[in-house]
Amino acid sequence: MDLLDVAKKMHFGDIHLHTDVETGLFAIAAVHDLTLGPAIGGCRFVEYPDTNAAIYDAMRLARGMTYKAAISKLPHGGGKSVIIRPADFDESKRDKFFEAFGAFIDSLGGQYITAKDSGTTVADMDSIHQKTDYVLGSTPEEGGTGDPSPLTAFGVRRGIEAAAKFKWDRDDLEGLKVAIQGVGSVGYGLARELHELGCTLVVADINEEAVQRCVDEFGALIAPPDTIHRIECDIYAPAALGGAINDETLPELQCDIVAGPANNQLSEDRHGVALRERQIVYVPDYALNAGGLINVAQEHRGYDAQTVRRKTEAIFDTILEILERADADGLPTNLVADRIVEEKIYGHALR
Ligand code: NAD
Repeated sequence: MDLLDVAKKMHFGDIHLHTDVETGLFAIAAVHDLTLGPAIGGCRFVEYPDTNAAIYDAMRLARGMTYKAAISKLPHGGGKSVIIRPADFDESKRDKFFEAFGAFIDSLGGQYITAKDSGTTVADMDSIHQKTDYVLGSTPEEGGTGDPSPLTAFGVRRGIEAAAKFKWDRDDLEGLKVAIQGVGSVGYGLARELHELGCTLVVADINEEAVQRCVDEFGALIAPPDTIHRIECDIYAPAALGGAINDETLPELQCDIVAGPANNQLSEDRHGVALRERQIVYVPDYALNAGGLINVAQEHRGYDAQTVRRKTEAIFDTILEILERADADGLPTNLVADRIVEEKIYGHALR
C-alpha cells in the first residue's frame, strides 16, 4: 500500500506522526479536510498488525469525520487520531501516556480537536486535558460533557422516525418491530428510546448481561448474535461493529429499513446498490449517528443542552432529504449522502 497514493485518492490533508520515547507513545493524527472549520474526531487506542495499518485506519476514519460533520451542517472539518496500543502496555502509566498524547495534540495548534473513540475513556480525555484545551468529552469536572452515547441514540431515533415517514408516511413508530444488533452504550440507549415510542424489540449481543438488561427493562426478545440480521422485522439496526451488511448477510435480510448507529455498516459501497435493488431503505450511518459529534462540537463553542437537542432533532430533516433525493434521482442513499457532502466541500460530486 502506497500511503501517499491513498492520501491523494482520499483528498488529504495532513498526516502527523509523533513518538515520545519516555512513555513509548506512537501516535498518528490524520487531518483530512479543514474547509468547513477545525477538524474534530476521536482518538482510537487499539493494537494494530503494523504501522501502515494504523496510519491507514486513521486516514479512513478522518475522512469519515469530514463527511459526518458536513452532512450534519457543522462548521468543522474531519480528523481522527490513532495511538498504537503497545502489546505490553503498562496500565499504571496510563495517565502520563495520555498526557504525552495531549502535548502532541496541543502542538497541532487547534487544527485538530480530539475526543473519545474505541479503546479510550472519558478519564483519558481528562489526562489529555492536562496538556491541551483541544480535547472534548472530558468529565464535567474538567469542563467536558462526558459520554455522548445518549445523544447519539436520540439522533438515531430521529433518523428512524424520518425513515418511517419516508417509507410508510407514518408519524409514529408505535407497534413497529426493531431488531438491534449490539446493545452496548448506543444500542441500549436506542432500545430505551424505541421502547418508549411503543416499538417491539428483538436484541442480540455477545454480552449476555447487556441482553438481559433489555429483556428486564424493555421486555425485549432475544436473538442469537450471528442470526439477528435474519429476523423478520420492520427495521434492522446494526449497533455493534462495522460491516454488518455484507455479501453473506444482505440476501438474508427480512426488513424494510436498515438504520442503526454502527459506523461503516456497508462492507462495500456496492452493498448500498444491492439494498436499493431489494427495496430496503438504507439510512446512511454517518448521517444517522452524528448526535455524539453534534454534542462535542457544541461543547467546543460553549455548551448549551437545548441547542444540542435541537440540532440532534434535525437529523430527522437530514435523513428525509437524503432519502427523498435518492428516490427522485434513482440512486443508492449512501451515494446521495456522499454527493451532498462533496458538493459542499469540493463544489462537485467525486463519483
Ligand atoms: P459499545 O462497545 O458500548 O457497544 C457495542 C456492543 O456491541 C457491545 O455490547 C458488544 O458486546 C456488542 N457486540 C460486539 N460484537 C457483537 C456481535 N458480533 N454481535 C452482537 N453484538 C456484538 O459501543 P457503542 O459506543 O455503543 O458503539 C456502537 C457502534 O456505534 C460502533 O460502531 C460505534 O462506532 C458507533 N458509534 C458510536 C457512537 C457513540 O456515541 N458511542 C457515535 C457514533 C457511532
